Amino acid sequence: MFGLHSPAPTKEHTNSYYAATAPETDYPCLSGDIDTDVVVIGGGFSGVNTALEFAQQGVDVVLVEARRIAWGASGRNGGQLIGGLGSDPRAFRRQVGAAGVQELIAMGFECVDIVADRIRQYAIDCDLRWGYCDVALRPRHLRWLREEKAFLEQAGYPHAQELLDAQALGSFVGSRAYLGGLYDATGAGHLHPLKLCQAEAAAAAAQGARIFEQSHVRSIEHSARPRVFTEHGSVTARHLVLCSNGYLGDLDPYLATRMVPASSCIIATEPLPEDLAHSVLPRDIAVCDLRTALDYFRLSPDRRLLFGGLSNYTGLLPRHYRDIMRRKMLKVFPQLEDIAIEHSWEGQMGISMNRMPQTGMLGPASYYIQAFSGHGVAPTHMLARVVSDAISGKRERFELLASLRHWPFPGGRYLRRPLMAMGMLYYKALDAL
Ligand SMILES: Cc1cc2nc3c(=O)[nH]c(=O)nc-3n(C[C@H](O)[C@H](O)[C@H](O)COP(=O)(O)OP(=O)(O)OC[C@H]3O[C@@H](n4cnc5c(N)ncnc54)[C@H](O)[C@@H]3O)c2cc1C
Repeated sequence: MFGLHSPAPTKEHTNSYYAATAPETDYPCLSGDIDTDVVVIGGGFSGVNTALEFAQQGVDVVLVEARRIAWGASGRNGGQLIGGLGSDPRAFRRQVGAAGVQELIAMGFECVDIVADRIRQYAIDCDLRWGYCDVALRPRHLRWLREEKAFLEQAGYPHAQELLDAQALGSFVGSRAYLGGLYDATGAGHLHPLKLCQAEAAAAAAQGARIFEQSHVRSIEHSARPRVFTEHGSVTARHLVLCSNGYLGDLDPYLATRMVPASSCIIATEPLPEDLAHSVLPRDIAVCDLRTALDYFRLSPDRRLLFGGLSNYTGLLPRHYRDIMRRKMLKVFPQLEDIAIEHSWEGQMGISMNRMPQTGMLGPASYYIQAFSGHGVAPTHMLARVVSDAISGKRERFELLASLRHWPFPGGRYLRRPLMAMGMLYYKALDAL
């Protein structure tokens, strides 16, 4: 109907550029009943890094993933490594006070450092490149960029930001679509997210974490000793951390009303000839525009353009989303008219009402992390640290994040997606102004 469909879930990785260029993982399926200190559900960045934080401290930890490590958003995303937790911390002053706002800002600054430290510490080959630019399509975006630069400077962001007018932007982004940009040479960049997440899982396993793939958690008991049940086994633990994000499904009704799964799509071109790649992104940086329903793009090391966007809250995907994405790409880079698209895929991200990630407790020893709202590569690493610190007794940052109100979406579990889709039409109309 209407050329829309709901992508069928697969047990192996989606058919992405990332899956075509990363090794495979083959951790065993959980069978039998086991005991541990911490059980983590979900093998994306949130779950893997929670497990890694514990494994590094010598704590016994078990991670249970329904499909493969980084099968979800973590292995499908745009690979843009960007700081900030997701929303402007100043908007939460009434909830957390001035000191709380400072702490949220600090966490937003630190989250990229955690990723960089991981890559250094474990010598991870994940194609990391530094350099990132927000780009303006409207005069109001230019005003926002100026204000953002002033805010970052005043807040002590340790990386220099350069405001670019349309002409200066031309030596970073070879497109006439934009009015200017804000360039960050050293504090943000891009990488191969599937390779990163797999390597982080390998680092956790090498330090004793027990990882199970193809082990779908069907139910959870949130008791003093939480227990999770899969088809062939169960794990009982002193603590549980639920990290299933946009792929939560029916596992937890409370979390389901606080988060809406939304899809975003990416296409990858064939490798571009060197001069064409240079005409598109001469400095090999990552780029996002400033609309609510944004476009984002970057080059791969073999000079493919990875172009993403088309966020959608309905749970249904346009059948011809590859063609739609190609048309969007050609609007920005008409010079790619004769270039073939070799990969196209989609992924689900968990959206929160206030665009901040969510953490909190579901029972006496059960924690959750979710809802990065399309901005999770770096913040997942921060939330994993915050929750593992909380379980180890250092609770200040956890209490702060957990105190942010997790507004339920109007419409409850069943109507929240259509209502959000209607709301998004409003924001798309605003984007066009
Ligand atoms: C197309 C796309 C592009 C994006 N681009 C960017 C970007 O460029 N930069 C950025 O910062 N962010 C981006 N994001 C967001 C970012 O990818 C996510 O915020 C982040 O990966 C979330 O990680 P996660 O571990 O919380 O969730 P996920 O990576 O989705 O992992 C959740 C895991 O839980 C597993 N799971 C679910 N239910 C169960 C169960 N019952 N039992 C066992 N396992 C279960 C799933 O199989 C999945 O592997 C993008 C997201 C998408 C979809």
